[in-house]
Amino acid sequence: MTFGSGRSLRLGRVAGIPVHVSPTWFLVAAVITIGFEPFVSRYLDDLGNGTYAVSFAFAVLLYGSVFLHEVSHALTALGLGLPVRGITLHFLGGYTEIERDSPTPGRDLVVSAAGPLLSLVLGAGAYVASRPVHGDVTEFLLFELAAANLVVGVFNLLPALPLDGGHMLRAVVWRVTGDENRGTVVAGRAGQVLAVLVLVVPFAASGGTPDVVGVVWAALVAMLLWSGATQALTVGRMRARLPALDPRRLARPAAPVAPDVPLSEALKTARGAGVTSLVVVDSAGRPTGVLNEAAAAAVPQERRPWVTVGQSSRTLTEGLVVGLGVTGDELLRVMRETPASEYLVVDEHGRVYGVLASSDVDAALAAR
Ligand SMILES: [Zn+2]
Repeated sequence: MTFGSGRSLRLGRVAGIPVHVSPTWFLVAAVITIGFEPFVSRYLDDLGNGTYAVSFAFAVLLYGSVFLHEVSHALTALGLGLPVRGITLHFLGGYTEIERDSPTPGRDLVVSAAGPLLSLVLGAGAYVASRPVHGDVTEFLLFELAAANLVVGVFNLLPALPLDGGHMLRAVVWRVTGDENRGTVVAGRAGQVLAVLVLVVPFAASGGTPDVVGVVWAALVAMLLWSGATQALTVGRMRARLPALDPRRLARPAAPVAPDVPLSEALKTARGAGVTSLVVVDSAGRPTGVLNEAAAAAVPQERRPWVTVGQSSRTLTEGLVVGLGVTGDELLRVMRETPASEYLVVDEHGRVYGVLASSDVDAALAAR
């Protein structure tokens, strides 16, 4: 459930962590205020229009609780040495973005549990605080705050991604089986099952005649759960393939060629050497460019004797040279920073190893 920072407003920082708010947050604050007001006026009937103020106060308290829930995740992650990129609050809760470069199931479990735990403690605290107060707005708000936090805490503990309980289930399966991807698959599938169950709830609870608001809310929650779970499964599948992203395996063998050689001749040389990739080298044999295979293929047959290899090549810059040791996540990062169709792969001594085609990397990522 990530929202781009381009569509959210920056609120400020907590412990150095940037906090963003999605615009939908304000919309739902209004919906909660209006939707909750009839409930307020049923319990506090002598307030007149003040019921809207109480209802709005509840929305603010609810959002405050969700915010503290996210802060709990974030501070726990920081305490365990995991950098936190930011907190985003959106219309059905929040999202804490944590960098997990060296994840362990143990740390994932603790960070995930920290949020719901805080919600439950906050709920219990609000309930205890509401006991000595009687018959007024404060008691009402404290009691509702307790109930809301209890719901947030328990709901988030359900063992299904993208909920916190899903992350906890994932960590436990990962720890037990030693297989991170299996954990993601189990918790992700559980998320899809939960999404379907949520759709059924309003029908089951009403004996088959649910009200429209209940159905809309259930559909909204089910949709978010389904997309979150499906996204987690997709990311998990990709992560499982990262070890396959190894230039040593993926690089195509390449033949060296001088820049002023006609394209037709160079392609003949490549065919003779049994390779498809060409590396442009200077008179000292140092690589200076990589043939852009798409550009070369686009040159009509009859023009190829009049076009040089250099004209169909991309000159090497720092980002276009990839070491053999650059694999997985790091390889993807390098390719994102300098997008190209071909990269030169060099060994630890700087010698040409081959050419890495980005289409081969895409294929390795998409492989089933
Ligand atoms: Zn949480």
